[in-house]
Amino acid sequence: MSIKTLSLTPQLYDYFLSISLREPPILKDIRQRGYSHPLGRMQIAAEQAQFLSFLLKLMKAKKVLEIGVFLGYSSTAMALALPPEGKLIACDVNPEYAEIARSNWQKAKVESKITLKLAPAIQTLQELLQQGEGGTFDFVFIDADKDNQEQYYEYALQLVRQGGVIAVDNVLWYGKVAQPEVDDETTKRIREFNQKLLRDERIDLTVLPLGDGLTLALKR
Ligand code: CA
Repeated sequence: MSIKTLSLTPQLYDYFLSISLREPPILKDIRQRGYSHPLGRMQIAAEQAQFLSFLLKLMKAKKVLEIGVFLGYSSTAMALALPPEGKLIACDVNPEYAEIARSNWQKAKVESKITLKLAPAIQTLQELLQQGEGGTFDFVFIDADKDNQEQYYEYALQLVRQGGVIAVDNVLWYGKVAQPEVDDETTKRIREFNQKLLRDERIDLTVLPLGDGLTLALKR
């Protein structure tokens, strides 16, 4: 019996994965090859990818926006969870990452569902709004540079439909958000962002200690 979230020992974490993960072989392959990249730890955890897929199916999502593609693991997982007519707009600025992501989408046969926008995401988000796409997305996943996090969130809130969800990764930031002695700009920014969402009356909020911390904001 417990009134608080368990701390996961390595042993319990392994058990948790052993009874929860159903990662398809193609996704596992993409994720594990991603770990050989110097920044591979920027990929979301397998249990997060599975959770996002679950959520998209639960919501019957058809239109998804991802801000921060990196090597394409999360976009592949989400695209696999979308119906055949589903669409995912994927934003990133790095052509090298995008190249790898594109080859992963092809391997998983989801490339027809994904439109890559290789440009600063804020520019892409503004364009989508100008094109009348406001209020049309079922789901937005924000996992990009933390400096622009708040702006991404504000645009996402305009682009997502009422009852749609915005998910934000890294809200627990390797635990640094709870260490008072850590006062670098990124950590401070993430703390401010978390406080802002806690008070934001435009959304229902839940924060899951999954992976590096995943916030879910449901647009009212
Ligand atoms: Ca992340």
